[in-house]
Amino acid sequence: MLKDQDRIFTNLYGMHERTLAGAKSRGHWDGTAAIIKKGRDWIVDQMKASGLRGRGGAGFPTGLKWSFMPKESDGRPAYLVINADESEPGTCKDREIMRHDPHTLIEGALIASFAMGAHTAYIYIRGEFIREREALQAAIDEAYDAGLLGRNAAGSGWDFDLYLHHGAGAYICGEETALLESLEGKKGMPRMKPPFPAASGLYGCPTTVNNVESIAVVPTILRRGADWFASFGRPNNAGTKLFAISGHVNNPCVVEEAMSISFEELIEKHCGGIRGGWDNLKAVIPGGSSVPLLPADIAREAIMDFDWLREHQSGLGTAAVIVMDQSTDVIKAIWRLSKFYKHESCGQCTPCREGTGWMMRVMDRLVTGEAEIEEIDMLLDVTKQVEGHTICALGDAAAWPIQGLIRHFRDEIEDRIRARQSGRVTAVAAE
Ligand code: SF4
Repeated sequence: MLKDQDRIFTNLYGMHERTLAGAKSRGHWDGTAAIIKKGRDWIVDQMKASGLRGRGGAGFPTGLKWSFMPKESDGRPAYLVINADESEPGTCKDREIMRHDPHTLIEGALIASFAMGAHTAYIYIRGEFIREREALQAAIDEAYDAGLLGRNAAGSGWDFDLYLHHGAGAYICGEETALLESLEGKKGMPRMKPPFPAASGLYGCPTTVNNVESIAVVPTILRRGADWFASFGRPNNAGTKLFAISGHVNNPCVVEEAMSISFEELIEKHCGGIRGGWDNLKAVIPGGSSVPLLPADIAREAIMDFDWLREHQSGLGTAAVIVMDQSTDVIKAIWRLSKFYKHESCGQCTPCREGTGWMMRVMDRLVTGEAEIEEIDMLLDVTKQVEGHTICALGDAAAWPIQGLIRHFRDEIEDRIRARQSGRVTAVAAE
């Protein structure tokens, strides 16, 4: 279990002051100018050495991403944009940072922006996060008053402005290029890539989009050293990580743990076990709604990191762990996700616009059993035609949960169809 002295987020539960004074007493804003004075290359190299992979879901190495930003400006400004949209169902970790430990993010924004040659950063916060926005804005105001932001921020010699921008509640605005469109005042529709944001992002200028947690961990990594951070987790899966566990556990929670912790330890140590005991576990979605679920037998063996979960045809995603016990109608649970993705599709590319509707309508029938057995493979075929054929990852996100369901719970789907056909309608769990 992660020791208290190795926690980056020391006020995750809001038990202490979230003010600047409180943050400083917990070690934040300590030696910020000295870190910046070590220079841009040093910071990027340290971030690469730390092994930090992006905490927003894709897991791309953070230091490497920063290194894509131009070293010399061609006259255009550079921007850091922090993705605080956090709309993935099951995911509720960044909000804890913003409402209880906002200075970790603000200090991280300054250092990261300097490392990318950006004098301006924007935090794009989910529209529904009202209290989080208030807490974060109060912390930003405090930081300006204390000279930690603005001209010569924190005495570093770097001028830096940080703006908080709130969205209007569209899931797709969590996709980085849709987020940039929205920030520019347009409809939140993903852009074709390339060009990638590092070449042409916000207002056509070099931009890096990073998740809240990815930025908030930066100051502590640089203060304690890349080796310290890299000492947690298996190779290629370094660091500590916020896990957000919801569903049928005794104590759902958000907790910072070492990467590569086993699923069983995570649930036993922090969540008081599975509701009704381990034999009552049915399935787990380990990384937010878009990754395929795992059945109980695989989940019990799981190592919670990027590589293990990918090798087992799922993913760490945002580390939002959704636990389902035997009382769950797992077909209906995945149907609900299909309905969500259909609703949130921006509609600009055909496989996603049409495919999400198709998939949801077949899932409608699988829930009630009013389908033919052959439709299971037809549905699988549709998911394959959507997957990888769309502008952004929402198409994949809609396809993968269904693929996971069919991979692991095909028997249950077939049983339900047969029960309906034979008139044993009581076997149908959901109507
Ligand atoms: Fe829009 Fe879906 Fe295409 Fe993404 S995949 S751009 S959400 S239609």
